[in-house]
Amino acid sequence: PSSVETLEFQAETRQLLRLVIHSIYSNKDIFLRELISNASDALDKLRLASLTDASLSEADTSDLQISLEVDKDARTLTVRDNGIGMTRDDLVELIGTIAKSGTASLLEKIKESKDAATTESLIGQFGVGFYSAFMVADKVTVHTRRAGTDSGTQWESDGEGSYTIQAADDLPVGTSVTLHLKPADSEDGLADYLSESKIRQIVKRYSDFIRWPIRMAADRTDADGEATSDLDTLNSMKALWARPRSEVTEDEYNEFYQQISHDWLPPAETIHMRAEGTFEYEALLFIPAQAPFDLYSRESKSGVQLYVKRVFIMDDCEALMPNYLRFVKGVVDAHDLSLNVSRELLQHDRQIQGVRRRLVKKVLGALKGMQDKDTERYTKVWAQFGRALKEGLLEDTDNTEALLELVSATSTHDPEKTTTLREYVERMKDGQDTIYYLTGETRAMVENSPHMEAFTAKGYEVLILTDPIDEVWVDQVPAFDGHRLQSIAKGQVDLDDTADDETETDADKAQREQDFAALLPWLTTTLSDHIKQVRLSSRLTTSAACIVGDAHDVTPTLEKMYRAMGQ
Ligand code: ADP
Ligand code: MG
Repeated sequence: PSSVETLEFQAETRQLLRLVIHSIYSNKDIFLRELISNASDALDKLRLASLTDASLSEADTSDLQISLEVDKDARTLTVRDNGIGMTRDDLVELIGTIAKSGTASLLEKIKESKDAATTESLIGQFGVGFYSAFMVADKVTVHTRRAGTDSGTQWESDGEGSYTIQAADDLPVGTSVTLHLKPADSEDGLADYLSESKIRQIVKRYSDFIRWPIRMAADRTDADGEATSDLDTLNSMKALWARPRSEVTEDEYNEFYQQISHDWLPPAETIHMRAEGTFEYEALLFIPAQAPFDLYSRESKSGVQLYVKRVFIMDDCEALMPNYLRFVKGVVDAHDLSLNVSRELLQHDRQIQGVRRRLVKKVLGALKGMQDKDTERYTKVWAQFGRALKEGLLEDTDNTEALLELVSATSTHDPEKTTTLREYVERMKDGQDTIYYLTGETRAMVENSPHMEAFTAKGYEVLILTDPIDEVWVDQVPAFDGHRLQSIAKGQVDLDDTADDETETDADKAQREQDFAALLPWLTTTLSDHIKQVRLSSRLTTSAACIVGDAHDVTPTLEKMYRAMGQ
């Protein structure tokens, strides 16, 4: 007869358990994700051990799987794996104590935290793992036998202060965790975890890409009306991003994209990468062909999901993609993060910041590649996402050059086609070192502007910028490829410096100034409510006068935009 030992949880474990049980997490469904992830780790470990340990029998390492078992009468849910298993000492050490450093100080912070959200995020950084079982169960029983050992162990606890341990005979290799479920309680966020459909739903959402089969008995009635029970595999096990690029077909990429984005079109571009080294991850990103209707609304969210070793962690992971690239969809699977990593923690994690920098470079590089190789496709993508990318010129000064390379704009050069800044620069006249532009509400308004006259007459190309955000970024960006951007409606544009058809002599100029000596002060006084100064200009050819802003003035379009935004 084996004796039952009763052991106390370590003090910190006890505190943590109390926090977990008393509903730290609003989302209780994640307990299953945690247990499945542990089972998956245990299967990984056994497979790895079998490669080096010849004593592990063939039988021990075949048909590795995770199974979920529901017993409605007993009200239990069991998560079983035939993985590496645990010894008695493993159980005491791994489940009875928290070996993680910083536990004490974390608990201190949690005690001081004032609101549930802070508490949740702090505990999330820590990762409750196995203990999350106590969110949904009032008793948990573990049966486990370590591979390569002969005897097993039973562990049991109600999560309060102590647990019992005893030897258990005739156990298969691996671990089963049996949850004696609390009654469903929608107010507490406790679903009916005995329900087959609920279990399927949770597995699909959080564990679909786990690379081991997750099986569950499905009760069915066959053609003769007999009750039968089959084992169903609940997860697809397909982690497309973990497969080598050369082995994934375009159809598979497209199908996956459509599944995660709910888009009905294939993506315009697919980016698949793997980073090795100190922080390993895989990323599979897509640039859609079409912008979602709400891309420019305040509610628009990041489109990147975070996984940790095939386990789904969160949607809309804004820490991985800057706001202006919110249209990028996809998955990042990081190998060395806690499953309970919180959004707050991710925002400040240096390694995640490094991943984000790298992903941004990849996306901008892919867009550049498209621009170089497939202009037609690029033009369509720019039409969809150009405005978002221009936001990048305001947000992401690290990538100003790369973003400026991507800018497409209409110009006076060719009314049919857009131009890049690079192409503009290549067409610049001898001696011209400034990129000229004019902003306005419509192309027609800009083209007919009196400001345009001298430039058109002298053959200078002018960019025609009609997107409200153009007003903002042109002001922020100092130069492209060493060439200043200059509005032809602002400040003094000195065309004479570069004009090759200079005809007015200094004497002519002096004469002209004398001719208008009386008119200018009169105009200035008469119009003083509206303007600062009236001066003679060489910028007009057919119009008599035009209004020019100060170099740092808010332009009329921008004024309108601010007014529309209620500022
Ligand atoms: P983590 O998974 O982050 O290490 P957990 O609290 O989820 O933290 O689990 C603690 C430890 O217990 C695991 O690291 C593992 O060593 C052990 N363990 C948990 N579940 C199993 C299992 N099904 N099979 C083998 N070992 C397990
Ligand atoms: Mg775990």
